[in-house]
Amino acid sequence: MGGLKNIGEFGLIDRIKSMFPAPEGVTGIGDDCAVIPQQDGFETLVSTDMLVENSHFIRSHVKPYQLGWKSAAVNFSDIAAMGGTPVCSFLSLALPPDVTGEWMDEFIRGYKDISDRYGFALLGGDTTSSREGISICVTVMGRAPAGTSRRRNDAGVGDNICVTGPLGDSGLGLELILSGKKNLNDVEAALVERHYLPMPRIDEGMKLSSTPGVHAMMDISDGVASDLLHILASSGVRAVVDCATIPLSREAGEYCACAEGVNAKACKAALCGGEDYELLFTATDEALAKLGEKGVPYYKIGRIVEENSGDGASPVSWESVPEGLDPDGIMGFRHF
Ligand code: ADP
Ligand code: MG
Repeated sequence: MGGLKNIGEFGLIDRIKSMFPAPEGVTGIGDDCAVIPQQDGFETLVSTDMLVENSHFIRSHVKPYQLGWKSAAVNFSDIAAMGGTPVCSFLSLALPPDVTGEWMDEFIRGYKDISDRYGFALLGGDTTSSREGISICVTVMGRAPAGTSRRRNDAGVGDNICVTGPLGDSGLGLELILSGKKNLNDVEAALVERHYLPMPRIDEGMKLSSTPGVHAMMDISDGVASDLLHILASSGVRAVVDCATIPLSREAGEYCACAEGVNAKACKAALCGGEDYELLFTATDEALAKLGEKGVPYYKIGRIVEENSGDGASPVSWESVPEGLDPDGIMGFRHF
């Protein structure tokens, strides 16, 4: 077995998955949450995610309040991705000796504010010491009426591909954080805030999962360029994405200096930046009309065009790619 770089994150997960086939009726490894049917007409949704110091955050750059919020947010987003209702979370921490009581109080305050906002109870966890660096592991649970939670494998030919909100803010915020720039203007500060205080789309997810004709769904953690590939691979289909229709916030538009249209910088941030935690879903035209009536925000960015015949051709065609961006270079976040 070579280094982890050679296998890749998803190669490693596939190896584990091949050894642990899911029990009958259960969705196991490979979706945003595991889905476990219950006797009471509901299904239980469970997901877990880790944040590791110097891989996912740099302690001197992030306020503990923001880190507490974000640790919960990225997990709540996986419940949103299935269209689930919040239930509870478990919080496990490995803490090095240089973490202070004040730092922890602020971390927990951020974790509590977002938990209260979305209605997740904190029911347990684990606390241990680490020699170096903070590790944070959160497990979340949600629920949904039996058979209603949305997976990644249900995209159908002819479906629209949509997102629930503007993309790229978080990636641009991270760029600003890493640049070390001081004295941010309002636009820059808003982008940094979107990176640190993401809003999981719980309400939108529940409305989407109660709308017939909304098919595949996931949350955008690594960037559409790589997240969409999961939907396409697990559904066995191909897509066309029109870069000109990618939604941008006013702040991203201003920061990337593209008042009209999507330029290369904005497009790259929107498709490859990741951590926007909007929902990415596929739906029929009729379903989109229903979402409009329910007041669910959505932006069409492409279409599922055909079954994937397995001929090795790329699963996505990128249209209207802005000048200066190499279509072959459109790729999401890589963990290893
Ligand atoms: P997400 O970005 O939605 O959190 P990931 O890309 O982290 O999802 O994980 C993809 C799938 O692989 C999920 O179903 C997750 O539970 C599963 N998974 C990831 N790492 C492991 C592991 N070490 N053991 C078992 N399952 C894993
Ligand atoms: Mg996810």
